[in-house]
Amino acid sequence: MQRGSISVQTENIFPIIKKFLYSDHEIFLRELVSNAVDATVKLQTLARRGEFSGELGETTIDILLDKEAKTLTIRDRGIGMSEDEVQKYLNQVAFSSAAEFLEKYKDDANIIGHFGLGFYSAFMVARKVEVITHSYRPDSQGVTWSCEGNPEYTITENDKADRGTDIILHIAEDSLEFLEQERIEGLLEKYCKFLPVAIRFGKKSESVTEGEGEEAKTTTVEVDNIINNPAPAWKKAPTDLTDEDYRAFYRELYPYSFEAPLFWIHLNIDYPFNLTGILYFPHLGNGLELQRNKIQLYSNQVYVTDNVKDIVPEFLTLLHGVIDSPDIPLNVSRSYLQSDGNVKKITSHITKKVADKLAELFKNDREGFQEKWNDLGVFVKYGMLSDEKFHDRALPFALVKNTRNEYEPIEAYIEKVKAAQTDKHNKVVLLYANQEEQQYSQIQACVNTGYDVLLMDQVIDNHYMQHLEYKLGNITFVRVDSDTVDNLVQKDEKKESVLSEEQEKQVNEWFSAVTTGGHVQLKPLSPNDMPVTITRPEFMRRMKEMQAMQGVRMDQFPETFNVVVNTNHPLIAQRLFQETDAEQRQTTIQYLYQLAMLESGMLKGADLNAFVQRSLGNI
Ligand code: ADP
Repeated sequence: MQRGSISVQTENIFPIIKKFLYSDHEIFLRELVSNAVDATVKLQTLARRGEFSGELGETTIDILLDKEAKTLTIRDRGIGMSEDEVQKYLNQVAFSSAAEFLEKYKDDANIIGHFGLGFYSAFMVARKVEVITHSYRPDSQGVTWSCEGNPEYTITENDKADRGTDIILHIAEDSLEFLEQERIEGLLEKYCKFLPVAIRFGKKSESVTEGEGEEAKTTTVEVDNIINNPAPAWKKAPTDLTDEDYRAFYRELYPYSFEAPLFWIHLNIDYPFNLTGILYFPHLGNGLELQRNKIQLYSNQVYVTDNVKDIVPEFLTLLHGVIDSPDIPLNVSRSYLQSDGNVKKITSHITKKVADKLAELFKNDREGFQEKWNDLGVFVKYGMLSDEKFHDRALPFALVKNTRNEYEPIEAYIEKVKAAQTDKHNKVVLLYANQEEQQYSQIQACVNTGYDVLLMDQVIDNHYMQHLEYKLGNITFVRVDSDTVDNLVQKDEKKESVLSEEQEKQVNEWFSAVTTGGHVQLKPLSPNDMPVTITRPEFMRRMKEMQAMQGVRMDQFPETFNVVVNTNHPLIAQRLFQETDAEQRQTTIQYLYQLAMLESGMLKGADLNAFVQRSLGNI
């Protein structure tokens, strides 16, 4: 037997391992299982190259739990280690890299949890670690390395017959949770689900049915409990996968998700960095927050994190799926990650791939693209708002939808509207509605006049319209209820009023006495238009919306709206003047005003109730 001391100057590494990695002890399992996988893959590679002449046999990795002995064992049939290799890899390489790692990150408790400490992370949960190993090389002697969480270790010869390594963790008293079947199963599920070598965690029962119909017999059998899928879809060639394969993989990733993804992008990049993965476009609806942060990051099929905020642009965190890259530097801090050149390249590359895929879909399956636009649109708009390059790439396929459910790319739409607008302003006026029901009559008025109306009813649309106005420069969005139809697009067109100036003054006075809050505007519209209409000037409304967003108290800025009185309507031009009873006239005006308020959805509470009561009286 040999005794040795790992290193003198960093004697304190063991307490540090426990202390600084406190929050994320569980990663020890990922580290040890990945080592076992590496050792196995190395042997498989040697065998492929003809450098290993023995029988490869079964290479499944076993995770063995012995509650009584209080041990957890990770057993592989990989390359194993000779005594020299144990000395080199465990006592020198692994130790010094663990020491270096801790030295570097001991003040950064946040990041430490995510990144590997390698073999020595075993001491976060074990009071004693034994490594029983036997190299694959012919005629090698098995050795056992043992260490009790202090700088002293021993190496002895053993009589392990077959190649490979057993790592036996004698679980410490404060870490007994890692002797629980469910806890270990959960960890394997989280970190090892897609490791490239089969991992077995004991047995499980499975029911099998034999025979058919009445003959059918169901029995329960014990089968190996293999916890991983060693060949996940993202590692395969896209040509080898069907649509159903992609959907099945989505279910594998998100077993609790009810909805199938809209479509997906298979990433396969090998220059200037290595990256594979599949990104899925989910059904978004308006539940943006629920959908966020579902992308899982892997490094050579080892799960790293589902927090990819620093690796993909914010708007892409709405996507789901997997990114796997050995080139993303994992053992560095967040701030470094954000400024890392490789990560920046990955970010812009993924953004480009996503835009390309959307462009392709738009080109090859316009109808499908339109059908998906409700979900896609949110994503595309969000991307255009937050990423300049994406804006440029997405503009050709950024659609707008009108109230007749017709879709068109925004640029083409602008051209069309521009050609139709006879009154040439310096900006093309795009009419829109954001509440189809509430703005029904205004939409109808526009459509009947021959104007097209866009439907901009998604939460993000207010920002999106401002963004487009700013980026494109030549357009202005105008909401259908911001003015009377005659004035929405074409301004300054003078119509004749049937009233004299004196009479108009009179009408103004009558209405002003009734319309609290609204600003009375007289307009000689067509006799067929409504007698009274409520409009909310676009500019004022936007100002108010901005103030509301900034948390300014609403009552400081009362609703600004105009009460447009159509002086050519017979009810105004004739009826009001024929009425001799002043009180009766005021009642009529109030009624007309309330009708207009009702139509624009502004009649509420006590006013609405009074209106209904009065209407009942008329029946
Ligand atoms: P890393 O895996 O990052 O190299 P570790 O501290 O996890 O660092 O391991 C140090 C070294 O010990 C490994 O590089 C490997 O050579 C050796 N090693 C660890 N576990 C095993 C194993 N199960 N089989 C063979 N070699 C192993």
